[in-house]
Amino acid sequence: MPLIPLLLATDIGLQPTREILGNVPSSSRWIFALLATISLGFFFWGCWRRIRIWRLGRRATARIPLRSAAVRFVREIVLQKRVRGRGIASVGHLLLFSGFSVLLIGTLLIAVEHLLADLLGRPANAPVFHYGLYYIIYEFVLDTFGVALIVGCLILLVRRCARPKSLDHRPLDVVVLLCLLFLGISGYFVEGLRILLADTGQSGCSFVGLATARLLAVTGIDKQFSPQMHLFLWWLHAIPALVLVAAFPYTRLLHSIAGSLNLLSQPESLGQMIPVRLEEVEETGRVGVGRVVDFSRERLLHLDACVACGRCEEACPAQEAGKPLSPKAIVLDVRQHIDAQPFAALARLACGEEGKLNSGLHGDVISAESLWSCTTCAACVDICPLRVSPLGMITDMRRHLIGEGELRGAPAMALQKTQRSGNPWGLPQQDRFDWANGLDVPTVKSVPDFEYLYWVGCAASYDRRVQRVARSMVWLLTQANVRFAVLGTEERCTGESARRMGDEFVFQELAATNIEVLKEHSVRKIVTHCPHCLNSLENDYSQLGGDYEVVHHSVLLASLIESGRLPQPSRAVAETITYHDPCYLARTGGITEPPRALIQTATGPGERRGEIAEMPRHARETSCCGGGGGRMWFDDSADERIGRSRVAEAVETGADTLAVSCPFCLIMLKDGIADAEAGLEIRDVAEILAASLGYEQPDRAGGTRTE
Ligand code: SF4
Ligand code: SF4
Repeated sequence: MPLIPLLLATDIGLQPTREILGNVPSSSRWIFALLATISLGFFFWGCWRRIRIWRLGRRATARIPLRSAAVRFVREIVLQKRVRGRGIASVGHLLLFSGFSVLLIGTLLIAVEHLLADLLGRPANAPVFHYGLYYIIYEFVLDTFGVALIVGCLILLVRRCARPKSLDHRPLDVVVLLCLLFLGISGYFVEGLRILLADTGQSGCSFVGLATARLLAVTGIDKQFSPQMHLFLWWLHAIPALVLVAAFPYTRLLHSIAGSLNLLSQPESLGQMIPVRLEEVEETGRVGVGRVVDFSRERLLHLDACVACGRCEEACPAQEAGKPLSPKAIVLDVRQHIDAQPFAALARLACGEEGKLNSGLHGDVISAESLWSCTTCAACVDICPLRVSPLGMITDMRRHLIGEGELRGAPAMALQKTQRSGNPWGLPQQDRFDWANGLDVPTVKSVPDFEYLYWVGCAASYDRRVQRVARSMVWLLTQANVRFAVLGTEERCTGESARRMGDEFVFQELAATNIEVLKEHSVRKIVTHCPHCLNSLENDYSQLGGDYEVVHHSVLLASLIESGRLPQPSRAVAETITYHDPCYLARTGGITEPPRALIQTATGPGERRGEIAEMPRHARETSCCGGGGGRMWFDDSADERIGRSRVAEAVETGADTLAVSCPFCLIMLKDGIADAEAGLEIRDVAEILAASLGYEQPDRAGGTRTE
């Protein structure tokens, strides 16, 4: 019968539909129900075993707003935004995910229809909702996504056979993929036989099922024999499906549950850290993560969300530089460690009782050397398709190492100096404003009605090279008539490095002092040329009650150019420029265009306008200079430095100047350029802009100590 009249028919019996579980005798149905109950029992028991491990962690402190969770659900789970961009592997995963999800929803809808029909006592040819247009769309969609599942499985199986280095190879992963593939193919054969048996001619919407039915008919399957064959195939399809459901939480498939929860519960900003309450530290005598049960619940969830895809390892600059750090190994090793412990012992530890574990976390499982190798560049978190944070686990564990006094040498000295002198250089506080000697720089006392507080930071206060950035900034802000002021000798280190190194005490001490000073001067808007200070003032200080509107100097300067408050260049720069995106600006802060806009302005209106010789890894995919997370204070020899590949990349662009917009990058890459004896000049974007507008640096403003 043609489809349109069927759809218009008011009699349900005439509308397109199919009998659910037709040809499946009631004995088989009962056995299936029993097996399904056992399978679900294994599923829920497996899930519970993981949930009770997650619950061992410390309670989450941050709450994720419902709206942001809903947006992320659509963007990151349904549309799989984070999975895209990895070529054929992404295509395979997208097909597998969409096919699996749609078939799962379809199966659940069939179960609902079947239960409702039973409940309402409907005969087999009078479905509750599985008929008419709904039925046609349902069959078409499920047939289409079944193909997606099969193709996705094939792609991922071929990829696994190629054994890419980044992937963790476990035979069980291949078995799971083969099982899914079998389910996809056998499902079409069951459908084909059902169509053959029903012979209604209404299955044009099940195009693959119909094609399979025709194929089976061509092979001469005896219609009399097909009911037995259908039942046999139905069981052959059902049993692996039930096994897969039961095995779900015990295989890598668990990542679809744990990963989804993780994507919904992670904070939006990469620059945030889990806050520490010092009162709690005093009460418990514990800081950071010394045992697995000290991790937060989110971190324990990360362990199950990780699929060991190796993306984080590929992106890690420390790993690239040959340091003993693999973010993937951090996650997998902690998971292996927790799985090797008796649950009862873990539970006792989590309750504050004594418990004996099979091995310790620090030393046995995670080496201090690997933890200290991290630059906190956040590349691992940003690239992870499940937003697992090896970085968060590293900084949690660093806090414990600091608490135990496990840091020695130059970085430990830097922390001591920060605590003693208010800056990691250990230079006197009264010298902090010497960079401005001979200049008329407004202070919060001389201009109390300032609009922007210019946060200068330690590097520009004490490092002679970085002081040139501060002087360029002061000149530019003055040219644009911005009402600004600096704190002068009232400013102290934000404590950003100390916090990322794990020293929460030094950080909180400095933050409390700075917040008090900022409050005293009624500061609301802050501009800074340092992305580390920016992140700390924005994300760390807000956890301690300091709420400010913080902008990076490139953002403010770009807006001053756009509004015409800064003129067009009088001496456009002639050299070829490449730009290095600082991790804390491009990745953590999401700011990539304003610094480029400044360079474009500085190159003038001529032919070369806008010309930036981009490095292969740029914008959010930038590579680290090696100075973040306190790494600036480690005594690495030239060939051990994390940023040396970045210098090589900059040199390869053929540029004359390497532009930066972070004092740490300036110092680290300057040293790297000197080590490589590369003929490359390095300048901050503010220096480049100021020079193009006619600014000339004074020879020396006086009073500075370091170069
Ligand atoms: S942490 Fe993320 S990126 Fe790294 S291996 Fe696990 S899933 Fe992949
Ligand atoms: S934050 Fe950067 S350096 Fe640290 S583990 Fe992640 S990718 Fe590696």
